[in-house]
Amino acid sequence: MTTIDTDPDTGLDPLEFAVTRNLAAKSNADRDAILAAPGFGQSFTDHMVDICWSVRGGWHRPRVSPYGPISLDPAAAVLHYGQEIFEGIKAYRHADGSVHTFRPDQNGRRLQRSARRLALPELPVPYFLQALRELIAVDGAWVPSGEDQSLYLRPFMFAKEAFLGVRPAHKVAFYVIASPAGAYFKGGVKPVSIWLSEDYSRAGKGGTGAAKTGGNYAASLLPQSEAYENECDQVVFLDQDRNVEELGGMNVVFVYKDGTIVTPQSDSILEGITRDSLLQLARDRGHRVEGRNVSLKEWREGVASGDIVEVFACGTAAVVTPIGTLKGRDFIDEQPTGTLALELREELTNIQYGRAEDKHGWLYRLDA
Ligand SMILES: *Cc1c(COP(=O)(O)O)cnc(C)c1O
Repeated sequence: MTTIDTDPDTGLDPLEFAVTRNLAAKSNADRDAILAAPGFGQSFTDHMVDICWSVRGGWHRPRVSPYGPISLDPAAAVLHYGQEIFEGIKAYRHADGSVHTFRPDQNGRRLQRSARRLALPELPVPYFLQALRELIAVDGAWVPSGEDQSLYLRPFMFAKEAFLGVRPAHKVAFYVIASPAGAYFKGGVKPVSIWLSEDYSRAGKGGTGAAKTGGNYAASLLPQSEAYENECDQVVFLDQDRNVEELGGMNVVFVYKDGTIVTPQSDSILEGITRDSLLQLARDRGHRVEGRNVSLKEWREGVASGDIVEVFACGTAAVVTPIGTLKGRDFIDEQPTGTLALELREELTNIQYGRAEDKHGWLYRLDA
């Protein structure tokens, strides 16, 4: 058990997690074999955390248990109406062996915003942080120490009430699972090709685009297949006014010739914590940063005229990915390649892995 004090902001006492050790936990040798080449999202640690919620009981029964299948009633609301949200955050091992994560308060607050939109209960941020620490307390050995490796933490919440009526569920579960992750780009960061989705959108005005919810991803899978059919790596979505939104799971950032950095901002876009952090680092270097609409026309004309000098995508999983090509039904635009994206990537990962000073106080120690 980790010891945590009463939260000064909320006055909430920490939860008391009941810990059941996994008697079939992987041996050190088996774990090391997985950590040597973890891939992404394929292997999972020995334990998981869950907390129940009900209308009557609030948050209750916090547990750490052996990782394994969840038993659900076939009528569980999530299986029918998709009432579900999630987060994605990484734990990094520093050179001295300590384990840190990055701006977890931001993820905790975003989970609350997603919860509000999906009519799910808002998990207090101190409970969110404690859940991450409880998992690291038992599975800390799963945080890899290789270059660009991390332990990807996946908090999620879903409606588990067995009821086919359409209303917010009265019973909900919050879980955290963890999966060791290797370097996203084997052999160095490579620019990706992007398919412009003209027939499908991922979100609409007043929809769930700003929430991290499975339904948005479900909506993105068919256009993502279309991207693959067109030999592209990822898909970019437009809004109803043909403004650029984002990729299926990454935000988009444009760098202009005069150093200004522009990123789409609207209530149909998921506000990435990676993007927010990169933009802060850019501001620290003296760049002007604008959040506003960017039309497809502005993008294409800016690239053609040389006004736009770099375009990149960003998110927790891949950190920063330069965009090399934009492909539409009847055009292919090669994108200019600059150096800012990779410089900011280096600066950000240096902070995350404890190799550079954490000027903004973004790191949060998980193992002490
Ligand atoms: C998670 C996510 C992102 C990136 O957010 P980060 O906090 O940077 O990981 C961007 N777009 C969508 C749709 C997402 O779900």
